[in-house]
Amino acid sequence: MNTAVVGINWGDEGKGRMVDLMSERYDVVVRYQGGNNAGHTVVNPRGKFILNLLPSGILRPEVVCVMGSGMVVDLRHLHDEIERLRAQGIVITTDNLKISDRATICMPYHVMQDCLEEDRLKDKKFGSTRRGIAPVYADKYMKKTLRAGDLIYKNDLSGRLRDLVEWKNITFGGYGEKISSEETEEWLRVYGEFAKPFVCDTSEYLLSAQKSGKNIMFEAQLGALRDIDFGIYPMTSSSNTIAAYAPIGSGVPSIKLDVVLGIVKAYSSCVGEGWFVSELFGDEAKKLRDAGGEYGAATGRPRRVGAFDVPATNYGIEVQAATELSITKLDVLGCMEKIPVCVAYDCNGKTLTRFPYPDLLTDCKPVIRYLDGWNCDVGKCRSYSELPENARKYVDFLRDNLNAPVKYLSVGPERDSYIEL
Ligand code: GDP
Repeated sequence: MNTAVVGINWGDEGKGRMVDLMSERYDVVVRYQGGNNAGHTVVNPRGKFILNLLPSGILRPEVVCVMGSGMVVDLRHLHDEIERLRAQGIVITTDNLKISDRATICMPYHVMQDCLEEDRLKDKKFGSTRRGIAPVYADKYMKKTLRAGDLIYKNDLSGRLRDLVEWKNITFGGYGEKISSEETEEWLRVYGEFAKPFVCDTSEYLLSAQKSGKNIMFEAQLGALRDIDFGIYPMTSSSNTIAAYAPIGSGVPSIKLDVVLGIVKAYSSCVGEGWFVSELFGDEAKKLRDAGGEYGAATGRPRRVGAFDVPATNYGIEVQAATELSITKLDVLGCMEKIPVCVAYDCNGKTLTRFPYPDLLTDCKPVIRYLDGWNCDVGKCRSYSELPENARKYVDFLRDNLNAPVKYLSVGPERDSYIEL
């Protein structure tokens, strides 16, 4: 069985939590895009963990985790994250972590370039996590970067690196600090040595896992609306977050997905910049943000919050080709007297139910319908029938308006805080 777990909205939907829960039924978990700009928070009986680069399956010792060819890997961050998790008691060896030799290395100068560009943009900034992701993906497509396999196979790695640094310094044209070849080489030597044992031909590994009938889960980072092609460009990430990219980014283009589980939050949140039609402001927003702990796991930034957005969610379902959904954080809405749901957009007097071309979103206002809240904690409910009537009505309203079946409701961050429908 091949299952992708993907974000339907702007990210931070609780994918890590669902992967952690579901990975019990899987032998292998693969991350197929992005880098350490991800921030999955997982709470389970072993503690609270923040994962940026490593697949969330790493918290189960019997699961093999693969960092796929579509990923960009900051080697220093990899080192720090592995050591941090080891200090929390997680065993990470070359048996349970494998890094694709085709994964791209994110260098310190990519981080520097990202920061310089965000600073230059000032109030027009993208809301980047400043972790070098856009510059490293750009260099990947310019064929001006190193891959993990180069640590093992490149004949003249130092020569290639010096050439890349020279080119970077030329393209920077004196903007920012001059990049030092020696320092970059030393960085690559230290963290490259650390990473090298994990690097292998993960495509071969995944093909043989598939042949022997293993269950494979594909874990996405961010959500559909941050996909480089289908999201709210240019306020997107720099990779394809959608499930259709999972076979490519995992390194096995022949893989066919059986299930695409789309993760949707019971309300909306959006970290960083970009169109967000159903955004809430003032006290209503603060109450929801605090109740939901909506502060970025990777950056600590307060997330913008909003009403559940039906047009955006159905668009996410469409581009993810989601076969089933999990609605997370239903418990958080216990803080609201009246719960707003954005059922359509008003675009200069025209009612839109289909998510439009991003720039048109500037003129869109949310068409809001209020549902009654339930004003209590549903965190202990383990079946649909245990939910208060208004919570059931809210869930049913979403089910009636969404174009994919809802299979799970998450009512808390802990592993077993969920309801299967
Ligand atoms: P991801 O990047 O999609 O994995 O999402 P994040 O980890 O950034 O954000 C999800 C946050 O919500 C994490 O802190 C989770 O522990 C938490 N979380 C996930 N599901 C639930 C839920 O059903 N209820 C509550 N209260 N918190 C949840």
